[in-house]
Amino acid sequence: MAYDRNNIFAKILRGEIPSERVYEDEFVLAIKDINPKAPVHVLILPKGPYTSLLDFSIRASTEEISIFFQTVAKIAELLGLQDQGFRVVSNTGDHGGQEVQHFHIHLLGGAVLGKLG
Ligand code: AMP
Repeated sequence: MAYDRNNIFAKILRGEIPSERVYEDEFVLAIKDINPKAPVHVLILPKGPYTSLLDFSIRASTEEISIFFQTVAKIAELLGLQDQGFRVVSNTGDHGGQEVQHFHIHLLGGAVLGKLG
């Protein structure tokens, strides 16, 4: 699937629509999810044009992938989640229920989360 430059996260990255930014650097942006499913629910996205976790894992450099996941861990710590724990989720494709076609990780925490499955 080609990357659509008009997806909602592309617009957020360009500053065309507002978001509650909790972290930003040269490569990564983290925003509060507009429809939170936990006391802490943050979306973490690389700034590069990747459609999904699959696309990111195939096309991004090893350095980009490494920096991205190091930054996910850093943001979990910034939000104070390191001691009590958290969950990361990346909905991928139709069966995964992916709504926005710009790769992102959900970071959820701040309470005991329901078991998956
Ligand atoms: P998914 O693609 O399945 O990971 O879901 C996209 C997520 O983006 C959902 O949890 C939405 O609540 C969230 N979302 C959609 N639009 C916005 C927005 N403008 N700002 C923040 N979060 C959003």
